Amino acid sequence: MYKCRVCKKIYPNRVQYCDCGSDDFEVIVQQAKSAPKTVNKKETLSWVIFWMCVSAAVLVWFI
Ligand SMILES: [Zn+2]
Repeated sequence: MYKCRVCKKIYPNRVQYCDCGSDDFEVIVQQAKSAPKTVNKKETLSWVIFWMCVSAAVLVWFI
């Protein structure tokens, strides 16, 4: 995004001139938010439980 240094108007795309006539823009970089780690932990735990159930079922089938 581009912000006019004069009137602080924000443009999503690069423009030659601002509405106020200025061509002095400040580039704003948006930082991507990473997913919380707690969700990944829960996901991993559910996968571990799933594979434990699968391996238990396989063991029972072999016995
Ligand atoms: Zn402006």
